Amino acid sequence: MIKKVEHIGIAVANAEHANEVFAKLLGHTHYKMENVESEGVATYFYDLNGTKIELLEATDSTSPIAKFIEKRKEGIHHLAFHVDDINEELDRLLELGFEKIGEIKKGADNKLICFLHPKTTSGVLVELCQEIDQ
Ligand code: ZN
Repeated sequence: MIKKVEHIGIAVANAEHANEVFAKLLGHTHYKMENVESEGVATYFYDLNGTKIELLEATDSTSPIAKFIEKRKEGIHHLAFHVDDINEELDRLLELGFEKIGEIKKGADNKLICFLHPKTTSGVLVELCQEIDQ
C-alpha cells in the first residue's frame, strides 16, 4: 500500500548552485550526498520532517537526468512513494494497468526502487521505494 510521499526528485543542471539555493530556501544544508552509478546521477537529500527533497545532477551524458535537462530544463522530475513491499505493490499496480519502466533495482538512500511510466500516471513519473532491511 502507498502510505506517504517519501521524497520529491528535482533535476538540477548544476548541483553546487542548486544546493546553495535549497540551503537558503530550507534554512539547512543537505544531510546526505550519494552517487548512484547505475543511473549516472549524484543525489543530495534534504529532510523536511520525514518527507525528503532529492536533488539529482547527471554525472554522465547518457543518464536519464541529462536527457531530462536537455529536453525540459530543471524542475520536478519525479514523485516517490514509500511502500512496505515493493514487489507486492508493483504487482498490484501492473494488474491495474500501470506500466513500469525497467525492473526493481537498488536506488539511492538504501532503497529498492521502481518507476512507473508517466503515460499511465497522468504525466507524473512515479517512483516506488522500499527501505532495504539492514
Ligand atoms: Zn527518487
